[in-house]
Amino acid sequence: MTSAKSVFSMPTPMKITGRSSTITNAFASAIIPVLHPTDDEIHASLRLLGMSVGGVWCSYCGGPHTEWDHLRPTIKNKRPTGYISEIKNLVPACGKCNQSKGNKNWREWMLSDARLSPKTRNIKRLDQKIANLAAYENQSGITNIDFEALLGSSIWSQHWKNWEAVLGQMENAQILADEIREELRRSFPSPET
Ligand SMILES: [Zn+2]
Repeated sequence: MTSAKSVFSMPTPMKITGRSSTITNAFASAIIPVLHPTDDEIHASLRLLGMSVGGVWCSYCGGPHTEWDHLRPTIKNKRPTGYISEIKNLVPACGKCNQSKGNKNWREWMLSDARLSPKTRNIKRLDQKIANLAAYENQSGITNIDFEALLGSSIWSQHWKNWEAVLGQMENAQILADEIREELRRSFPSPET
């Protein structure tokens, strides 16, 4: 006979600490400089990629583009890499490729067996797409900055102290939240054993 418990599942309560990786990512993302391109720079970038404003597609798979992706990741191992949000480091992409690539090296990812990578999706003319991206990457020196050297170590370390404090507060808040939930639970009758 099917047991009642085998067809039931209790929704898992959300954890305050369940958002720590989003917070960590935000602490890196929030400080990366953003340089908005001029029209001329957009035209020039598209030209280098063999595209034009009338014909833009995903640089990795050739599908419809929905966004621009950082060719070299701006965040790795929870810290800024030194690459920034500037058009020299951005290429048109589709959401599928952007999600699948994450902060991996673009060339290794394209040829990898990662889920939804161009190779696993059997994208045609992959060599040509890689050659175009390599040419784009080599054009005029993608900016790479040393955050700590530019800011000074006191501001830099304060920022990461803030990050630790926020995560620490989240952990403390989670401990109290667990206690509150248990205390509230005790005001209800215990289940039959
Ligand atoms: Zn794509």
